[in-house]
This record gives sequence, structure tokens and C-alpha cells, in this order.
Amino acid sequence: VTKIGVLTSGGDSPGMNAAIRAVVRTGLFHGLEVFGIMRGYQGMVEDDIIKMESRSVANIIQRGGTILKTARSKEFFEHEGRKKAYANLQKRGIDGLVIIGGDGSFRGAQKFSAEFDIPCVGLPGTIDKDMAGTDVTIGFDTAVNTAVQAIDKIRDTMDAHDRVFIVEVMGRDAGYIALHSGIATGAENILIPETKTDIEAIIHGLTEKEKRKKLVNLIVVAEGEEFGGGNEVAKVIRQRMPNADVRVTVLGHIQRGGAPTCEDRVVASHMGYYAVESLLLGRRNVMVGVINNKIHYTPLEKAVKEKHKIGTEWIKIQKILAS
Ligand code: ATP
Repeated sequence: VTKIGVLTSGGDSPGMNAAIRAVVRTGLFHGLEVFGIMRGYQGMVEDDIIKMESRSVANIIQRGGTILKTARSKEFFEHEGRKKAYANLQKRGIDGLVIIGGDGSFRGAQKFSAEFDIPCVGLPGTIDKDMAGTDVTIGFDTAVNTAVQAIDKIRDTMDAHDRVFIVEVMGRDAGYIALHSGIATGAENILIPETKTDIEAIIHGLTEKEKRKKLVNLIVVAEGEEFGGGNEVAKVIRQRMPNADVRVTVLGHIQRGGAPTCEDRVVASHMGYYAVESLLLGRRNVMVGVINNKIHYTPLEKAVKEKHKIGTEWIKIQKILAS
């Protein structure tokens, strides 16, 4: 490869800027030309592509979001759109791509590289942490720490009232943010999509606590949990315990924003560096991940098929600690 393009796609996550910076600077170090593709695949289709210099990525490592912006691209789902995108790469001589995004973005990359023979390397950029082939994803650490800080604040006010507090966190169909933030804040219950929610046990627990005059009850709920999130769980509890004062906080998009934590900046820098190294070594269509603190490559095909699974051990530990 001699000219590479980098893009961020799908949902943004804190640390994407650190990854862009690492890709650009590592590419330049090796004498490559580096292009930034704006708004994910949409910018590739629309020819919104800019030359990147070392200074283009100055002073961004600490910033949330992504300077390249991100988008979902309908056109890229179609062969015609991908053909247009490829023509835009070709006219600049771009012969390698780094895609920072989630599994949808990798699915797109896989299709694209199969059709047009362009090597693609993926970096897992998602707050949900549900990618196979890696222990960490860019953005999870920041998101979960934001959730912890928010829940800590809610706990302060909880102490003053006799209430059941439900906090809904993000994660789509994965429970990592809920499990980790729930453990870190000592939640009485953590509801995640990976396990069946035993609502009877929760109601029983709350009733027992009511009898013992235990005032504080914190329930952390993943948005993808089987009842459908915090408000739905609250509905069920209110029906069953009409006297309970149930309050719901949906943390929402604050979990996506903010300055990336040290961990996310380091992870993104590490992965960004190896994305370019692996393109130079002729690796194609792989995702760069980290397993046991070592760089690990997973074929994109496998990365999009499998999901990272929460260990059953964690679920057991959580139950013991919350009892
Ligand atoms: P997040 O995890 O935040 O949702 P993601 O990468 O999974 O991120 P998606 O919206 O699923 O986000 O995918 C991003 C873009 O990738 C899509 O808008 C589309 O342009 C492209 N893409 C996804 N799946 C495919 C596919 N099967 N074929 C072609 N392009 C695809």
C-alpha cells in the first residue's frame, strides 16, 4: 500500500479521534499518503475526502466524537453506491482502508473488499463492547465511567429518600455497560439482555427490604434487557408495589460523549498503530483487537458473525455481591 484512507462509521464513540490520529501519524511515519474520508461510507460515495497531514490530527487525542464525522450510508448498501465509492478511491490511488466502527461497518467493509479487491482493516469503535475477537473496544471505558459517575450522583440523592431508583444505561443488545457500572456502583440488581430477568425475585427482594426499612434500592437496567428498558421495568414494579416510589433515569447520549479516558486513548492509539502496520504487512480484511493485552487479528468475516459473550462467572459474582 502507498495511499490509505481512514474513516469512522456507524455510531461514534469516545477515542475515535485518538485512533484517527494514530492511523494518520503511523501512515506518515512510513511515508504513506493518508486521506481522511468524511462521514463514513457516505463521504466515500460523495467524494468528501481530504488529505491528512500530521497537523490535521493535532490536539484531538483528548476530544470526544470524531473529527471525520460519522454517518449511516444507505447508498453504500447498494452495489451502485459502492462502485461510486471505489471510483473515488481509485482516482486518488487509495489502495488501503482503515475503518473505525461497529459490526455493521465491518459488514460493509467486507462486501466492499470482496467486490473491489481493496484491503480493509477494521478497528472496533463502539461503546457496547460486544465485538468478538477483542477484550476491549474504543469507547467502552469512557462510556462506562460516565455511567458510573452519573449513578454515583444519583446514589447521593437516593440516600435522602425512600425510593427505588432505576437507571437505564446503553449497550443495545449487550449488557457490558450495565454489568460493569452496576458492579462498580453496588447496584442491588443489574438487568442485562444476556440473562433472563427474574422479576419475581426482584419484587420479592424489594418487598423484603421494605419490611426491613432498607431505604436504598438501585437497579441498573441495560436498554436491551427483555422488558425493554428502565421505564418498562418501572411499570411492572409500580403495578406490583403501588406504594413504592419508583424513579427512572435514562442516561442516554451522555454516555457517548465526553473526553475519552486514558484507557480509551491508549487502546485507540495501540490499535491505530497496528492497523497501519498490518496493512503494510499485507494483512487484509481483518479486525485489530486486543486479547490478554496483546494485539490479535480476527478476519472481518468472523468478527461480524460472532458476538463477544459476557462470562457466566461475572453474572454469578454480581448476584452474590448484590445480595
Ligand atoms: P454501531 O455499532 O454504532 O451501530 P455500526 O458500524 O454497527 O456501528 P451500522 O449503522 O450498522 O453501524 O453500519 C454503518 C454503515 O455501514 C451503514 O450505514 C452502511 O453504510 C454500512 N453497512 C452496514 N452493513 C452493511 C452491509 N451489509 N452492506 C453494505 N454496507 C453496510
